[in-house]
Amino acid sequence: MKKIASAALITALTIPAFAAEFITIGTGSVTGTYYPTGGAVCRLVNKYKKETKIRCSVESTGGSEYNINTIKNGELDFGIAQSDVVYNMANGLKKYKGKQVKKLRSVMAIYPELFTVVTRKEAGIKSIKDIKGKRINVGNPGSGHASTAATLFPYLGMSKKDLGFAGVLKAGESPDALRDNKVDGYFYMVGHPTANIKDASNSVDIAITPVVGPEVDKMIKDNPYFAKADVPAGLYKGIDTPVSTFGVKAVLVTSTDVSDKAVYTLVKAILENFDAFKKLHPAYANITKESLLDGLSAPQHEGAKKYFKEAGLL
Ligand code: GLU
Repeated sequence: MKKIASAALITALTIPAFAAEFITIGTGSVTGTYYPTGGAVCRLVNKYKKETKIRCSVESTGGSEYNINTIKNGELDFGIAQSDVVYNMANGLKKYKGKQVKKLRSVMAIYPELFTVVTRKEAGIKSIKDIKGKRINVGNPGSGHASTAATLFPYLGMSKKDLGFAGVLKAGESPDALRDNKVDGYFYMVGHPTANIKDASNSVDIAITPVVGPEVDKMIKDNPYFAKADVPAGLYKGIDTPVSTFGVKAVLVTSTDVSDKAVYTLVKAILENFDAFKKLHPAYANITKESLLDGLSAPQHEGAKKYFKEAGLL
């Protein structure tokens, strides 16, 4: 009798009635668009934490590739990543040959992000080919834009070695490096508008260099996850006409290790508050419930499929 009582007591102490499941979303630098997106997702998930017992938190990270590798290791449950990086890592292609992340799963493709070449106006970088010999922050290892640049360079008939200097700073460090004339420009695959480029445009005269031409067209044609897109006019100081470039989707990803319940709960929280969600960042202006399924790049997690089916979207 005594034994049973103490066993019950131990159980009561070690398994609290409100055993919560903690989920963490890996994002990017705090002044980018992934970080506030992670915040927007968590805000809606946490709205239901009493019922669902799922608590969501956000982590600032080095970006797409870092997020996927860290999900693979089980240290993150979710992450946001570029659809090109998701595709290449899920299938073990390009620089990820032999490093296929088989358990990578997509949840939803949230919004478009564009390959943006932010430059000092005085550097006179009018076309993407003008970056030859210039000091460009390509991006930290682990960032999505550094991975995309590795795809782009061969199409332009060049490599990082043709730059005057190829920087590996984090995206959050780029605006200061531009202002301080440590670089002539930087790459950033990002959803617009972003605080990062607002900060840059408020501290130095900037230009955004178009990324167009037959070489870029060929790259878009060869790679299904790329599409043409324009950085809209009027978002940043000095950028008064749209700038043509190419883009991908920012995809929320996870792995088969994460429970159907956690993924289902997250998707449900966003879709049942979709209008509220859309108001949380201007980069979501044109997204629809249907567009969330466009550009997934990796098999969709079963928990996500379940909700999208119930909602009649799949
Ligand atoms: N696309 C960038 C990356 O994968 C991050 C963009 C952002 O933080 O909004 O590294």
